[in-house]
Amino acid sequence: STMPPLLSAIANAGRHGVLAKSAVVMERLGRVDAIAMDKTGTLTEGTPRLTDVRPLPGGGLDADALLRLAASAEHPSEHPLARAVVDAARERGLALAPAGDFTAAPGRGVTATVEGLRVEAGAPARLLTSDQHADVVSELEESGRTAVAVLCDGRPVGVLGVADRLRPDAAATVAALTRLTGRAPALLTGDNERAARHVAARVGITDVRAGLLPEEKVAAVRAWEAEGRRVLVVGDGVNDAPALAAAHCGVAMGRAGSDLALETADAVVVRDELAAVPAVVALSRAARRLVV
Ligand code: ADP
Ligand code: MG
Repeated sequence: STMPPLLSAIANAGRHGVLAKSAVVMERLGRVDAIAMDKTGTLTEGTPRLTDVRPLPGGGLDADALLRLAASAEHPSEHPLARAVVDAARERGLALAPAGDFTAAPGRGVTATVEGLRVEAGAPARLLTSDQHADVVSELEESGRTAVAVLCDGRPVGVLGVADRLRPDAAATVAALTRLTGRAPALLTGDNERAARHVAARVGITDVRAGLLPEEKVAAVRAWEAEGRRVLVVGDGVNDAPALAAAHCGVAMGRAGSDLALETADAVVVRDELAAVPAVVALSRAARRLVV
């Protein structure tokens, strides 16, 4: 073919289901030597399901009332956890109430006014003090579930449990990326340490950074780049967008990925296969060898 190597590399990436936004991206992909991966929606399928509804003593709510309140507050959020809560409420036939003054804090959770109550739903580590309901939270997290704390006017009223499935190609992808770069990817996640370690152990990752806010994911990437590493970030969420932008190269998972992540990333996996990531890294390296 007469097509320049980097352009034919873009075309080949397309055949693997990866949309690279420019030829420069292919060149960058071929140079990465360290990988940082997000958990929810990246190593996992990102379509978590609600598994537990635990009203707290003194909260005054039964399971349905708790779920309905949390789902009403979560309704405007595009986070996969929010979708799990809303879907479960719908399946139980609970009619949601309108959410006013909605705000979402990436990596933390949501706040909204529902029926005159200030409802918060999000990370227990951010919303509860360490001794509050630690037994319920750790029971859920130790089995790999994500706990969502629910507060009403500042008072904890319940904890929800949500579980997500590992992508079928997650372990093979981590193995392929490890072979390509000579070291296992790191896991950068906003989720809790226990759920993160549970997933990491199943895919062959030992470098786990949990409980990270979006700017802390950026700081981790910057620290590696300051050591001379060229980092590829693979993510899907609003919370990953700053790290996708800061990295040498950012790749977003397209199917469930947030608009912000897709806009910010250098390349998008449009077919929903994580294994496309090591495939395009290998391809970009081959194309670079032809160019340089
Ligand atoms: P990850 O890095 O694993 O994709 P996120 O940064 O998106 O995770 O979220 C980190 C944590 O913040 C979640 O595990 C959850 O505890 C909390 N969180 C964020 N958004 C929401 C939400 N809409 N509802 C409940 N919890 C949320
Ligand atoms: Mg994610």
